[in-house]
Amino acid sequence: MTTTPGTAPQNDDQIRTRACLDALPAYVAGHAADDPDSFKISSNESPFGPIPAVRQAMIDVMDGLNRYPDMVAHDLRSELAGRFGVAPEQVVVSTGSVTVTGLVIQALCEPGDEVVMPWRSFEAYPILVGGHGAASVQVPLNGDYALDLDAMAAAVTERTRVVIVCSPNNPTGAAVTHDQLEAFLAKVPENVVVVLDEAYFQFADPGAHFDGLRAFHAHSNTVLLRTFSKIHGLAGARVGYAVAHPRLAAALNKVNVPFSASSLAQAGALAALTDEAMGAVNVRSHLIQAERERVQDAITELGWDIPDSQGNFVFFPMGERSTEFTAFFAGRGLVLRQYGDDGVRATIDVTDANDRLIAVATEWFRIHGV
Ligand SMILES: *Cc1c(COP(=O)(O)O)cnc(C)c1O
Repeated sequence: MTTTPGTAPQNDDQIRTRACLDALPAYVAGHAADDPDSFKISSNESPFGPIPAVRQAMIDVMDGLNRYPDMVAHDLRSELAGRFGVAPEQVVVSTGSVTVTGLVIQALCEPGDEVVMPWRSFEAYPILVGGHGAASVQVPLNGDYALDLDAMAAAVTERTRVVIVCSPNNPTGAAVTHDQLEAFLAKVPENVVVVLDEAYFQFADPGAHFDGLRAFHAHSNTVLLRTFSKIHGLAGARVGYAVAHPRLAAALNKVNVPFSASSLAQAGALAALTDEAMGAVNVRSHLIQAERERVQDAITELGWDIPDSQGNFVFFPMGERSTEFTAFFAGRGLVLRQYGDDGVRATIDVTDANDRLIAVATEWFRIHGV
């Protein structure tokens, strides 16, 4: 029997969803630009498509899509493990590093356990934490829109299972240096896992961002989260991973959804790690870095003090003017990402988009000031 949409009985209020979901905000995806002349610079995507070798590697596995992927992602994990000096089992590959963040929460948190995080930070964190019935402890950023690591260490209680360090921080761009990270890790109890979310670390200037791998090898309570979505330009393929110590890795592997990294994702990611691909990625990251500096310098020259960003994006701390600011840019062909009454983020994209970002920001500044 077929049912016409809209005529089905609307009785699904009998379904009992978990109470912890009621308080959860929905994830707001950067929306597409309606007009073709407009730039969508709201999702921190790479403006560059996959390089030819990555594209070809994905095409090559296409004819085998009737088969399930390699469940243990053997080749990709071995390649990554070799680079990091860990066993392949310690690399946990899944559908983007957002998914892996969820696995960490799922593996570590009982209902009511606490996860300490900076705030504003990545909006997926409280959704993942709340969705698993754990509690987010949001520690406000300091006056420089950077992580307040002292306050984060002080927020750890005996209920804390996880602390998230996002560096460079999405959406403000502040990075944590190696010394800052080490001082922080010295204060966090060894039974609390410190997640180092390094989604954007390749965009950071040398020395501005900690050496995650060194911290990982020095501290048994750390876990690295990395992604192919940002610098590698494979956001649509959905692949990211954790590098974890054996006990946590085993737990993550237990809760990971089987086959979560598709054959296309595995093939693309593996091809993205060759010397040739890494060379291309380095060129691209230098381009984005140079463009970020150009945008930041142009805005600073206006006499406008925006936070120094180490990511592929810049942040405008507009406070209560955030809605007006976002609309102003949308009206001039730039789709930005608004964070409530905290501010607005703009992704560094192709030169034309960045030129327009500078021009519209300049126009705003001339009319409104900061
Ligand atoms: C984009 C991003 C990720 C990576 O997301 P994927 O699921 O790998 O696409 C992780 N953390 C932060 C802070 C991000 O902004």
